[in-house]
Amino acid sequence: MDSFCFVCFQKEELQPLHLHSAAMSAGSIEQEPSRKLGCCGVPLITEDMQSLAIRTLSGTDITKHYDLIRELGKGTYGKVDLVSHKSTGTKMALKFVNKSKTKLKNFLREFSITNTLSSSPFIIKVFDVVFETEDCYVFAQEYAPGGDLFDIIPPQVGLPEELVKRCVQQLGLALDYMHSKSLVHRDIKPENVLLFDRDCRRVKLADFGMTRKVGCRVKRISGTIPYTAPEVCQAGRAEGFAVDTSIDVWAFGVLIFCVLTGNFPWEAAVASDAFFEEFVRWQKGRLAGLPSQWRRFTDSALRMFQRLLALDPEKRCPVKEVFYFIKCDLMAEVRCRPSYRSRKHARDKLPAGPHCHEPGASCTPAPLKRTVLTEASAARGPEPGGGGGGGGGGGGGGGGGGGGGGGG
Ligand code: AMP
Repeated sequence: MDSFCFVCFQKEELQPLHLHSAAMSAGSIEQEPSRKLGCCGVPLITEDMQSLAIRTLSGTDITKHYDLIRELGKGTYGKVDLVSHKSTGTKMALKFVNKSKTKLKNFLREFSITNTLSSSPFIIKVFDVVFETEDCYVFAQEYAPGGDLFDIIPPQVGLPEELVKRCVQQLGLALDYMHSKSLVHRDIKPENVLLFDRDCRRVKLADFGMTRKVGCRVKRISGTIPYTAPEVCQAGRAEGFAVDTSIDVWAFGVLIFCVLTGNFPWEAAVASDAFFEEFVRWQKGRLAGLPSQWRRFTDSALRMFQRLLALDPEKRCPVKEVFYFIKCDLMAEVRCRPSYRSRKHARDKLPAGPHCHEPGASCTPAPLKRTVLTEASAARGPEPGGGGGGGGGGGGGGGGGGGGGGGG
């Protein structure tokens, strides 16, 4: 009997993890406190357990245990339902992942990683509830009543600086915790930040369907989204690339830009994107002045973006550098002046249409939209080298040709 590290999919020596049969009969997994950990600190689950661990529930079984309140989210992977546990009254978010999109191994990896990272107060917690239906694998997470960060960003305006700083602080801690365990989230975006209140006093990072260990070789996802780092956009489809924490740092930089401004800085970090190309010239010191989209920031904020969005991944800062920058003002005062406000007002009145693609002009590169994978099976599919292990996984993810609509 083999057991696997569910992050690397490396075989480990036989050290079975025991399940409480009582817990199983209640349709849940419970792990012994002294469970054996894999090389990534994620519990090992034996091959035998993959078939044993998950109990099948029919639709009737589910309604016997849970009251459906409403659907919270939907994507190519499946859906997330808000339910209430009948006997305890506990509200929870049940994540249903379609079996046609996801292999059991990948589902268990997402559950296992989320469970392991749950010890951070800034990462969504899972309940000991895992089961399968005829079509889906299902696990339960704590319910975040404030929805996700994307939903509260006023388009083309952005969120107040103080609120953004609270978010950045908590997300920075979540990411720093993951990175300290050599885990890379790989799908940092506002849709994957869950809120417990609308003022962002308590936010948590979610959706670990794409998470891999540093050094895992993965295939490049087809298509890109604005959060995708340039080196990932450039990676060849065939050879893929080695996962590194610097890709989360880049996405975090783009996320901060988005929440502060209500726009994407570019549609994709590729040379053919005029806004990205202008940013590259600025980063290389080859642009007189600032790109138009970046004029609203203070010098401290610009230094932060230069560090988070360093073009060379080797030169990108570690996540924890943001803690220094968020002590400073981020938005330039000019934003508050009447002349700025009237210009903004005039811009807001412009009809929605093709974006201005003349760098230097005062125009917005791309209004914010939810980004989802267009090819879920490619994103979560078999990965060369250390990432191997087959088909899809849960949650929204990386691709989408500069944005793609739909729920994350
Ligand atoms: P996911 O694919 O896990 O990112 O979930 C898709 C969407 O469902 C998210 O963007 C949220 O809006 C919603 N959602 C997911 N999990 C939860 C949760 N635990 N609490 C509240 N909303 C959630």
